[in-house]
Amino acid sequence: MAHYGIIGAGISGLTLAWKLKKQGHQVTIWESGTTAGGVIGSVREDDWLAESGPNSIQDSDSSVMELVESLGITNQLLEASTTAKRRYIVRDRSPHLVPNSPVSAVTTPLFSTRAKLGILLEPFRAVGGPNNPKSKRNVSNQLKDDDFDTSTDENIIEFDESLASFVDRRLGPEFLDYAINPMVGGIYAGKPERLSVKHAFPKVYALEKEFGSLIKGAIGRILERKKSGQTPHKKRVLSFKNGLSDLINALIMKLGSDLHTSQSVIKVDKKSSGQYEITTRVFTKSTVQSAPNSDGSLNPIGFTPPTVTNLFTVDELVYAGTTWRLNEIQFENIIGLPDSYLPTLNYAPVVSVTLGYPLKNILHPLDGFGVLVPEVENMNILGCLFTSSIFPNRAPAGHATLTVFVGGMRNPDMIQLPDEKLLKLIYADLNQLLGIKENPVFLHIKRWEEAIPQYEMGFSAYLKRLDDIEINNDGFHFIGNYRSGISLDACIRNSWNWKSGN
Ligand SMILES: Cc1cc2nc3c(=O)[nH]c(=O)nc-3n(C[C@H](O)[C@H](O)[C@H](O)COP(=O)(O)OP(=O)(O)OC[C@H]3O[C@@H](n4cnc5c(N)ncnc54)[C@H](O)[C@@H]3O)c2cc1C
Repeated sequence: MAHYGIIGAGISGLTLAWKLKKQGHQVTIWESGTTAGGVIGSVREDDWLAESGPNSIQDSDSSVMELVESLGITNQLLEASTTAKRRYIVRDRSPHLVPNSPVSAVTTPLFSTRAKLGILLEPFRAVGGPNNPKSKRNVSNQLKDDDFDTSTDENIIEFDESLASFVDRRLGPEFLDYAINPMVGGIYAGKPERLSVKHAFPKVYALEKEFGSLIKGAIGRILERKKSGQTPHKKRVLSFKNGLSDLINALIMKLGSDLHTSQSVIKVDKKSSGQYEITTRVFTKSTVQSAPNSDGSLNPIGFTPPTVTNLFTVDELVYAGTTWRLNEIQFENIIGLPDSYLPTLNYAPVVSVTLGYPLKNILHPLDGFGVLVPEVENMNILGCLFTSSIFPNRAPAGHATLTVFVGGMRNPDMIQLPDEKLLKLIYADLNQLLGIKENPVFLHIKRWEEAIPQYEMGFSAYLKRLDDIEINNDGFHFIGNYRSGISLDACIRNSWNWKSGN
C-alpha cells in the first residue's frame, strides 16, 4: 500500500482521498482554505439556505450514488422536484418554457418558423471541418495562439472548432443564440465563441463524427442502447437536506486527521528515492498585540506571526488544486514544472447571489428549475435558479429563494461592481422577468474571481502538457475540474474511478 499526498480538498481531492483510504492506502490531503470543499459551501441562516457555489449534482452514472452510500448519508439526499424538469429561456425579455414535446417544439415562441425548419434540415447538412471558414461565429484559437509556441511541437498542433461555429453550421444562428448561448452561460459561465466543441461538449462532438448528424446520432445512440440490452441510467438532479456541504462534511468526517486544512503546499521536491517531499505553510490566526499608552488606554500593534512550515514525504502526489494556483508552488526536480511550461486556463469570474422573498412578492409561479438569459437579450444576469422550487428546506414557509449568477466570460467586469450597484442591476432584471418589485428579505452574495475553468480552443495542447508531465514524473498526477469535466458529477466520477497510472 502506498502513501498518497493530495494537494487541494475540493470535491475532486476529497473524493479521491476517501476512495484511496477505503482501498487501504495511507492518505494525506492539504487544503489552504480554513475548511474543505473548494467552491462548495452551503450557508444556513435560520430557515434560509444559500449555496455559495454549485447548487446541485446531476448523476450521469453510478459514481455519485456509490460515493454517497459509502459515506452513509443516503438519508440526507434530496432529489429535485418534478417541477424542476421545466426550464425557461428568455426571449423578448420574457421567460418562455423550453419545449419538451414534439407539439411544444412546433408551437414554442422561442424559435421562429425558419429556425424550426432549419433544425429539421440538420441531418442533411454536410459534416464540417475544423475552423469552418464559412462560419462568422468562430474565433481564434485562444490557448494555442496566446500561450503556446506550437511551431516547435508538431504533435500538439490541433485546429479546434468553436462551439459557436459548430452549432451555427449544424443548427443555425437562432438556435445558437437562443438555446446554446444561454445554456453555456448557465453551465460554464462561458461564451460559445470561445469554447472548444470537442472538449466542452465531447458527447455532442462525437455525434457528428460518428453519425454525420446530431439528430441521426441521438437516434443512433438510443438504438445502440436498445441493441445492447442495457437499461439507461436514470439521471437525477440531487442535493442534500442542508445543501451540498452535507456531502463535504461527511467526507471531512471520514478523512479525520488525514485532512490538513489551513495548510498551503508551497514546495514539492522529488527526491532521488522517487518519493516526494512536500512543504506546507500553516496559516495561524493573525494576532493583534496591544501596547498601553501613557493614559492607560491600549494601542493595538498589528503583528504577523512567524511562518510555520511542515514537511511530509509521500510515495505518490496528486495535484487536485486549480491551475491558476500552480505557480504558488516551488517545484524541484519535476520535469515540465514550474509552470512556465504549463499555461493556466482562463477562468470565468462569477458572482452568485441568493435572494429570499415572501412568495406574495413574486408574480411568476417559479414552476421550474430556473430561467437562462441569452446574451442577445442584453440583460444583466446570466440566469436565475428557482432554488426553493427545486429542493425543499431552502426557505421559510411562505417564502422562496432564487439564486442569480452574474458576470461570466460575457460580462467579466461585473464582478468588480460594489454590492449596491450590482443589486440594482439584478433587481431590475428580476422585476422584468419574474415581476418582483420589492427588495429581498434575505440576501447572500459570493464573488468568485476565478470560478469555472474554460475549455477553450487549444485545450488539446494543454491536456498534452499535463500528460507529458505525468509521463515524465513517475508518481505525479493531475486531477480536477481543469482536466476532464467541470461538473460535480464529472469530478466525482473521475476521482471515484481513478487509478494510479490513468
Ligand atoms: C458559482 C459556481 C456554481 C457552480 N454550479 C455547479 C452546479 O450547480 N453543478 C455542478 O455540477 N457544478 C457546478 N459548478 C462547478 C463545480 O462546482 C466545480 O467544477 C467543482 O466543484 C470543482 O471541484 P475541484 O475539487 O476540482 O476544484 P476546487 O473546488 O476548485 O478545489 C480545489 C481546492 O484546491 C485548493 N488548493 C489550491 N492550491 C492549493 C495549494 N497549493 N495547497 C493547498 N490547497 C490548494 C483550493 O483552496 C481549493 O479548495 C459550479 C462552480 C461555481 C464556481
